[in-house]
Amino acid sequence: MSHAASGSLLIRDAELLSGARADVHVLNGRIERIAAHLTVHDGETVIEARGRALCVGLHDHHLHLMAHAASLESLPCGSPVIGCVTGFADLLRMRVRLENPAAPGWIRGIGYHEGVGGPIDRRWLDAVAPQVPVRIQHRSGRLWILNTCALRRLGVEEDERGTPLERIDGRLTGRLYDGDDWLRTRLAGTYPSLARTSEALARVGVTGVTDAGPRNGRGEFAHFVAERRDGRLQQDVLVMGNGELDGLPDARGVKVGPTKLYLRDADLPPFESFCDAIARSHAAGRPVAIHCVTRAELFFAAAALQQAGPLPGDRIEHASVTPPEAVPLLRELRVSVVTQPHFILERGDRYLEEVEPDDQPWLYRGRGLAAAGIPLAAGSDAPYGELSPWLAMSAATQRRTREGAILGADEALTPAEALALFCSPAHAPGGAPRRVEVGAPGDLCLLDRPWEAALGDLAAVGVEATIKEGRVIWRRP
Ligand SMILES: [Zn+2]
Repeated sequence: MSHAASGSLLIRDAELLSGARADVHVLNGRIERIAAHLTVHDGETVIEARGRALCVGLHDHHLHLMAHAASLESLPCGSPVIGCVTGFADLLRMRVRLENPAAPGWIRGIGYHEGVGGPIDRRWLDAVAPQVPVRIQHRSGRLWILNTCALRRLGVEEDERGTPLERIDGRLTGRLYDGDDWLRTRLAGTYPSLARTSEALARVGVTGVTDAGPRNGRGEFAHFVAERRDGRLQQDVLVMGNGELDGLPDARGVKVGPTKLYLRDADLPPFESFCDAIARSHAAGRPVAIHCVTRAELFFAAAALQQAGPLPGDRIEHASVTPPEAVPLLRELRVSVVTQPHFILERGDRYLEEVEPDDQPWLYRGRGLAAAGIPLAAGSDAPYGELSPWLAMSAATQRRTREGAILGADEALTPAEALALFCSPAHAPGGAPRRVEVGAPGDLCLLDRPWEAALGDLAAVGVEATIKEGRVIWRRP
């Protein structure tokens, strides 16, 4: 029998999580056989694991693919290295040369401030980069500066009124203050390539993600489908988003996920209308994912879920503050919690200064939720958090801030529990972890060390190879 043609892969002598060492054969995208010794077939890809740990491909349960891609493609314009206005102009010209002159993409700069090149405007940008649409964000986040090419790309007419663009003596200066919503509308339909984000995910062993964008609608969904189809996106995506996604058919590797509902303490919606939003999503067969970062948001969400009635797959995103009295509510509702344990590392020192002392023991909980039987999963929240799941796992076991303070010592998970945060299926975050077993999809990652060493220091783990449906999508050079 020949396996040569159809993506046949043999991983030899891998250590499974059980401690057993075995050969694992993947055929037609699925794990076909696991045995002590398997024969190599002609033309088959072989990976020699030499006793290193073989793990299921990880699933990041909460991130923002397009924001991450945009952040990778953004030009940092506040760097002290630039220093002066000619340095900034050179940097822009260098960046312009990377664009295809026939079909230039956007150049998006971030972090600009007057110390770099003074109060630049449309005319300044036109002199430096006339051919390519450029938008530069001021580090305050409140101001964009656009060149003429950018204004044209956004469909702005010189005499168009009613835009938030600044005019001086009737002429557009290219400056846009507090115009993010307007900009977003005008940019609709232009989405970044996901290739570099996908590669960054593959490098850390991720084979599936849940995109948590609250604004995801049909356009975003179509972009994910196209990127996945054309191979720029190698991971499967479960797409959260708005009501536009109701009833959309799943595509290969891209599926409609929960309705994302956003809560903001300072501006909570009327309770009844929030319950209606949950009921509407459930009626469309979609669970809800409710963004909750404060105590009040969590109780509001729990009460609304109680009123509307929960649906399997409902989830709380972040649950940043989960006081003890919220735990029985969540358990009763059978909602999953999707947490970001690495925020303890990345932001913990700030939390110690800024978060109410009463709330501090209940930040990004692990043990307290797991012990109550609440399904617990994790996501990077990239680009707002570090992309690597291994850092998040480590943080879940250590609970240590960058400065070395311990936050919520009682909430530490065991290394195996921390690993499981990224191993549950997309549709059931915190459910039973997927396993390397016959019949399972060939979504795998081979670590650079055996299990005992990996679980002993999760932050140090490197990934040798990442495999999606039996195809190697990343291999350590
Ligand atoms: Zn998020």
